[in-house]
Amino acid sequence: MSNKKVIPLEQAHQPTTNPSTPLRAGQPKVNAYTCGNGCPNTVVKHRDPGVTPMYIECYTCNTMAASHFYKVPQDLEPQLIAFKPKDKAEWKMYRRYVADCWQLSRPGWTMKELWEAMAACAQHIKKGGVLMVPKDKLK
Ligand SMILES: [Zn+2]
Repeated sequence: MSNKKVIPLEQAHQPTTNPSTPLRAGQPKVNAYTCGNGCPNTVVKHRDPGVTPMYIECYTCNTMAASHFYKVPQDLEPQLIAFKPKDKAEWKMYRRYVADCWQLSRPGWTMKELWEAMAACAQHIKKGGVLMVPKDKLK
């Protein structure tokens, strides 16, 4: 593979440690997203390592906000927590929350569309993605 040595940007300046250690010491855990409307940043803090999107909806105005790729001060106060459900019980707990969010934001969706979205969400987690929920929703 010719791209074997390419280091992801967010890790490029980090000291090399055992790659099997989850959330290494010194690895950035806080990221921010900025929209085009001058709102405060939407700040995400990782409880667990995992892939987050390049764009999310701005926490304030719900338009598209772009990632700063973790190149932000790590002491920003987060609105959202990124986490990977640690077991089936935790996934079940947050699956309900995710479904409620979609039902509120996409009231036109059929049950089938909702179930397809939930299946896609489960796939996203299985492939190393994380869920993001408001800080006060994470128990
Ligand atoms: Zn905004």
